[in-house]
Amino acid sequence: MANNSLEKARLEINEIDKQMAELFVRRIKLTEAVAEYKQKNDLPILDKSREAEVIRRNSAYIEDEEIKSLYVRFIQKTMELSRIHQSKLIAPATENLIRVNIGEGYSIHIGRGLLNCAGEIFNLNRRVLILTDSGVPKEYSEKIASLCHKAKILTVKEGEGSKSFATLEMIEDEMLTFGMTRTDCVVAVGGGVVGDLAGFAASIYMRGVDFYNIPTTLLSQVDSSIGGKTAINLDGVKNIVGSFYQPKGVLIDPDMLKSLPRRQLLNGLAEAIKMSLTSDEGLFELIEGEDFENNIEDIITRSLLIKKAVVEADEREGGIRKILNFGHTLGHAIEADGKGRLYHGECVAIGMTAVCSGEVKARLVALLKKVGLPYSYDENYDKAAELISHDKKCDGKQLSVVFVDKIGSYRIEKMDVDSFICHIRKELK
Ligand code: NAD
Repeated sequence: MANNSLEKARLEINEIDKQMAELFVRRIKLTEAVAEYKQKNDLPILDKSREAEVIRRNSAYIEDEEIKSLYVRFIQKTMELSRIHQSKLIAPATENLIRVNIGEGYSIHIGRGLLNCAGEIFNLNRRVLILTDSGVPKEYSEKIASLCHKAKILTVKEGEGSKSFATLEMIEDEMLTFGMTRTDCVVAVGGGVVGDLAGFAASIYMRGVDFYNIPTTLLSQVDSSIGGKTAINLDGVKNIVGSFYQPKGVLIDPDMLKSLPRRQLLNGLAEAIKMSLTSDEGLFELIEGEDFENNIEDIITRSLLIKKAVVEADEREGGIRKILNFGHTLGHAIEADGKGRLYHGECVAIGMTAVCSGEVKARLVALLKKVGLPYSYDENYDKAAELISHDKKCDGKQLSVVFVDKIGSYRIEKMDVDSFICHIRKELK
């Protein structure tokens, strides 16, 4: 190509690029009107069949197969950018942000309606394996899939039984079949079961791929989504195989709690009450004095701030992280004794009543009654007492027991098992 022809071609390309920029702006502006309409009529941002039809119709104008395939990639990308822009427009005006400074660090985004914005918060422009379970409403994982470049939704059976080697192997298999490489990612859409399982699966696939967490239960939103603990169970022993693996990001949309049964909601609230008792009197007063459902965003954010401070100071559970076990020594034993009759949070609620001062106990019991959480255990404590000695938090024969004498503070006391059992019998008789 002669010099002057090159110049001419470049000028023409410049002109085309200018026109394309103008057309792109026009296109994006039009999508804003479409977004408004879709929001008013509660329609999804992604309309796969319409997009496929546009691609088929337009690519029919191009004869050259090579250029046609380039065009398909170009128009798909344009559509994806439109979708991201539309999602942003219907995003909530406010969002709380918590930065967790462990390893590379990651952010927790909290806000109503934030699920629609996952495409901007996370990098979903790659292969994305979305793990969910059969009890989580399908629309949440489908929404995420609609924001991904290439997604596969994998649904495991709901319940603790899915935290197993068999399920883990199945997930790794699916990741391989899906053609995932080290630059792809896993997104958990579910409660603590899905989060623990997805995090562990991500941590071992190709020695670690990116992991994003979208917790959908209150327990997972206030507790299990932060701290980087991932695990499965083995031979009936909970969380015995796992890893510390931090997510790349966490998205919490309290609107997803609307579909959660009330008993599950209270299960998570018990953990928030636990954190308030050791670390934040104001949070305790908020739950005590107000309707907790009306203040759920605040409760989630303040609970996470407590857990953030703890896990940042003590990433691997050597010292201060023990305060997260407040109420858990007896709670775990009651949980094991009840064989699933009582939820974890319900057992922790009862467990807490045995390890606080009289004054704190009176306020705690009144609060548990108000929200509808249990505060006493009908069975006798013999079996539970026996089970305490098998608690994995037991340091040989010594237990580290967290006590709350005044709301918002704690002390940790080393006690042998027998003294602790004696203490709870006295407290709970
Ligand atoms: P879960 O994940 O089993 O969820 C409870 C139930 O709610 C399930 O049936 C689920 O299908 C359903 N569900 C979830 N989201 C829903 C929604 N938005 N609407 C309707 N139904 C919904 O239980 P969980 O209490 O969230 O988590 C418990 C697990 O978390 C345990 O395995 C525990 O070991 C783990 N955990 C981990 C950590 C950690 O730091 N990694 C901390 C605490 C607990």
